Amino acid sequence: MTEYRSWIPTQLEWTVSPARFGFRIPAGSEDLVATLASGTISVRAPTIEVAQSTARLNESCMRFVGAACCRWLVLCGGPWDDAVKKFYLHDVIQLSPAELFVVIGESAAEVPVSPKRTQLKQEAVDRIARFEQEMEDQRKILEEKQAGFEHDTDEVRRIGNAMLDSFGSPDAPPPIPPVVSDLSLQPERGSLITRVPVRKRDRIAAVLKSVSDSVWGPSRDGKYRCAIVPMVDGSKAVYLQWTRREVMTPALEFKSALERKLKSALSKPRRRGCAPPRPEQISGNEDVVRGVLANADEIPGQNELSDFLPRPTGEGREAIKKNGFEAIAWYQQFHCYDEGSWGIHLHSPKLDEFVADLASDLRRTEARSRQVAALVGVQLVVAHELFHAQVEFAAAWHELSGRRRRYLRYFDHAYTRSRFTPDWLEEALANWSAHEWLLENLDRLHRDGIVQDPIRLRSVVEDWLDFSPAGYREWRAGDDHVTWDRLASEIAKGDPSGHGFNGNVLPLGGLLRRDTLFDLRLDDIPVYFVGQGVVASIYFGSPSRREVAQVLRHFGYGVLSARGKGSHEVWKGGDGRTFTVPLRDPLSIGVFHSLLEHFGWSKQQYMQEIRAKI
Ligand SMILES: [Zn+2]
Repeated sequence: MTEYRSWIPTQLEWTVSPARFGFRIPAGSEDLVATLASGTISVRAPTIEVAQSTARLNESCMRFVGAACCRWLVLCGGPWDDAVKKFYLHDVIQLSPAELFVVIGESAAEVPVSPKRTQLKQEAVDRIARFEQEMEDQRKILEEKQAGFEHDTDEVRRIGNAMLDSFGSPDAPPPIPPVVSDLSLQPERGSLITRVPVRKRDRIAAVLKSVSDSVWGPSRDGKYRCAIVPMVDGSKAVYLQWTRREVMTPALEFKSALERKLKSALSKPRRRGCAPPRPEQISGNEDVVRGVLANADEIPGQNELSDFLPRPTGEGREAIKKNGFEAIAWYQQFHCYDEGSWGIHLHSPKLDEFVADLASDLRRTEARSRQVAALVGVQLVVAHELFHAQVEFAAAWHELSGRRRRYLRYFDHAYTRSRFTPDWLEEALANWSAHEWLLENLDRLHRDGIVQDPIRLRSVVEDWLDFSPAGYREWRAGDDHVTWDRLASEIAKGDPSGHGFNGNVLPLGGLLRRDTLFDLRLDDIPVYFVGQGVVASIYFGSPSRREVAQVLRHFGYGVLSARGKGSHEVWKGGDGRTFTVPLRDPLSIGVFHSLLEHFGWSKQQYMQEIRAKI
């Protein structure tokens, strides 16, 4: 494989988990599916027996677990209290098509639990259930046959019966236990470094070499999660995980290339801080926290929202009438704002007012109007802001190909000059994109029973788009390809395209289509929450490190200073269990989920009960 070069700086996120163990197993291992399904394996000390109730590991693997347990005893500094030790399955990483890397730990996984891994577990549960059903069916067939033979005195049948007893087989071949490759989802992919260099530079080189040696291709965003784990042979290894790059160029490459090669395209200096389009929008002393947007399916029940959401006052509607979706959220461009400030900013109190008013419009047709409004409202706002990012990345692509600054000129001359006029094309197309999100998801929301009256919902949303200010309300122009060509021409030329067609409008609309030019995902863009709000707290995927520390302290946990080094902190509770907190903000959704899992809380419980205690 040729050496991979990326403009995006490599970011290594190191975590150390002393309470874990790693070993390799062949990808065809049957028992791994059962382990995936149960999430645990039980090991009896000192001889290694695997408990009936939980998964068995195959022969070679058992040898590994045996060695792991011996090593474990040494590390834990003594024999176990119980005869049977339960280990939790933490990670399954596919190193190559033929080989997997399995990580087990003493306590439940503290590593990020990705949606993919949750689905993988569900797949394994389903597949095991199917396998057991097939076994059960065959057993019944066999029993029926045997019962039939018992009443038969015929000599030949008796011989047949004896044969059946000795082979114990019905007509069909026995069901085959599932293997990992039977599952429609593969485990997450990664690579393994078995010898970790001490010097930082060498470590980065080792990571990049390991990635280029792997069959999976490099990271799309420059990020590599590097987890150091003890191996069964006593050595230490690092297993790497990343989101691989697809065929299309990741949008973040443009940003990084621009920052390195065409600094003149960016503001100098780039600004910091939170700057809403209308400064009076924020009071100035509101908290701005970087967060991760949670999955939309985690919206709480109607009652919870009823208790906490403000009453509809019409203020949300007024704000949108005056300022469009920018009343609720805005996008700060990387051309103008520094790392740490660029990205989507959501104004949490305004978001609540908007959702409350939207819900009141849906009250007559939707039994769960607040839930629907919270879900749809946030997605519309996010889709709108994502389009602004898309425009900026398209401009960056254009700047790189022509080696000339464009975006800032476009922003000053075309975008700003057409504010609140029907020619405010970027806002028109941003609203068109929000509407497009609705069209793409309406059927699914209806099918899943979330939305009861999709026709009414669509017309309510279109009303909201229609009473937005000039520019915003021209969203239907997105159906005409000329609008796309016009906006792309404005970016290319840096001045308003005007109404004249000839000569003014270049056929460049394709530049703005994310699905044809580059790979931009919502995850690529930082999201900030400004101020406090109910809906924002639902979508706020993870709390800050400080908050998690407060929670742990509240429940009697203390930092183990001897074990926490560098990138993480290990906390220990009264019951002896530990929880690892990475030293970075915001914590990933996975760490938050592990915290919930660790204490057995639901997210709702956390938001309403636990947060109130600290
Ligand atoms: Zn906008």
